[in-house]
Amino acid sequence: MKTLESSLEHEVAEVICLKCLNRWIAVYPQDTLLKDIECKCGFIGAVIKTGQTLNIDTDDETMKNDVRYQNMVTMWGEKIAKRKYREFCLTQ
Ligand SMILES: [Zn+2]
Repeated sequence: MKTLESSLEHEVAEVICLKCLNRWIAVYPQDTLLKDIECKCGFIGAVIKTGQTLNIDTDDETMKNDVRYQNMVTMWGEKIAKRKYREFCLTQ
């Protein structure tokens, strides 16, 4: 059983499905294997990271309009999302 804390450790990366070539910004728990990620095409096991650098402007308005931030809010709530988003920006 997962603790709450471990569920907060997530990766954010641009990934691509080698089956249908769909790209998206994936937010997934750190212990998730890429081969277990399901694409929207329904295929599991064809997803790899693109290595694309994600450039994010950190001003508040841009952040709130950024779908990656919105995904983080969905995942963690606003407070944690804000911190994670800024950490994420700093590592780019
Ligand atoms: Zn796909």
